[in-house]
Amino acid sequence: MNKSDINEVKELLSTKQNIVVVPHRNPDGDAMGSCLAMYHYLQGKGHNVTVVAPNDYPDFLKWLPGSKNAFKFDMQNRQSKEALDEASITFLLDFNALHRVGDDMANTLEKFMGTFIMIDHHQQPDNIAKYLYSDTSICSTCQMVYQFFEMLNDLEAITPEIATCLYAGIMTDTGSFRFASTTSKTHRIVADLMDKGAKNAQIHNNVYDTNSYSRLQLLGRSLSNMVVIDELKTAYIKLTQEDLDEFNYQKGDTEGVVNYALSLKGVVFAVIFIEDTDQKIIKMSFRSKGKFSVNKFARAHFNGGGHDNAAGGRSTVSIDATISNFLSILPDYKNDLKNSYEK
Ligand code: 5GP
Ligand code: MN
Repeated sequence: MNKSDINEVKELLSTKQNIVVVPHRNPDGDAMGSCLAMYHYLQGKGHNVTVVAPNDYPDFLKWLPGSKNAFKFDMQNRQSKEALDEASITFLLDFNALHRVGDDMANTLEKFMGTFIMIDHHQQPDNIAKYLYSDTSICSTCQMVYQFFEMLNDLEAITPEIATCLYAGIMTDTGSFRFASTTSKTHRIVADLMDKGAKNAQIHNNVYDTNSYSRLQLLGRSLSNMVVIDELKTAYIKLTQEDLDEFNYQKGDTEGVVNYALSLKGVVFAVIFIEDTDQKIIKMSFRSKGKFSVNKFARAHFNGGGHDNAAGGRSTVSIDATISNFLSILPDYKNDLKNSYEK
C-alpha cells in the first residue's frame, strides 16, 4: 500500500460505512485476532461492522473480545449474506486467495460489488483487492494490522480490546515469539500492545492452558503414532478419523501437534496427516526448519501453500495412499532436506 492508497483508504473511511471483515476458513489465532482487532477499530470510528468467518473456530479463541458478535457463514448463512449485501467495504484478512474461504463463501464474495481491502502475509496473493497490503516477511497479519493503523497515523485508537486481539494473533502465529519471523520490531509492537492494555500472562493462559483431558490424550496418541525418517530428516504423524473419534475430537485439538515432530533434534521437515471423513479429505500441515520451503512443497504436490516454514495442503485419496504418495516423493528432496540447516 503506497501513500496514495493510504490516503484513499483514509478518505473511504472518513464517512460512515457498512463494513464486513473476513478471515480464512478454519480461522486460527492470527485470522480471528486480526479480524476482531479491525472490528473494534472500525466500530470505534463509527462504522457499522460485521465479522463473517467462513466457519467455526476453536474454543481457545472464543474468549477474544468481540468473538460472540462474529457470524459463521455456514451456520448463520442468511445473516452473513445480508451483511455482505449491505457492505460497501470488505476486509480480507490473513488469506491470499478467495478459495481460502471455502467454495460456498467464495461464490458469494465473487459477487461482492464493493471495495475489497486485503491485508495478508501469505505468498503470491491473488489480484482481487482494490487495496492490497501484502508482506510475506511479516510474522503475522496482526502485526500488519498494527502497521496499517500506524500508516493511518492512528495508533492512539488502539484500545485494550484491540491490543488484546493483536497480541493474541502475533503470539499464536510466531509460536509465542520464537519463530524466525519474529523481529525486534515485532517485540517493539508487542511491548506497545502491552502498554495499551494487552495482558500477556492472561492471553497465554487463555490460549494455551485451557486444554481438555481428551485433547492431551489425543496428543499422546499423535506422539506415539509419530514416524521418524532419519536419513531424510523428516518426521510425520498420522491421525485417522478413528483416533479423533476415540478422543472426542473438537475443533482446534490438533493445532500445534505437528510442531512436536519438528522439535526433534535433527528433523527439519514435519508433517501431520489428518483424516476428515466428513469432508472426504486428508488435511495436511507441513512445517520446516531453515531453507526447505514447505510452501513450494505443498503447492507442488498437495494442492496447498502457505509460508516457507509453515504450510497446509490436502488430498482426496485415502490416508494410507496419501502417506505412500508422500513417501514416494520425499527422496527427490533428499539434498534440499540435508542442506536445510537446523535452527
Ligand atoms: P496450518 O497447517 O496451520 O493449517 O497452516 C499453516 C499455514 O499455511 C497457515 O498460514 C495457513 O493459512 C496456510 N495454509 C494452510 N492450508 C493452506 C492451503 O491449502 N493453501 C494455502 N495457500 N495456504 C494454506
Ligand atoms: Mn497468519
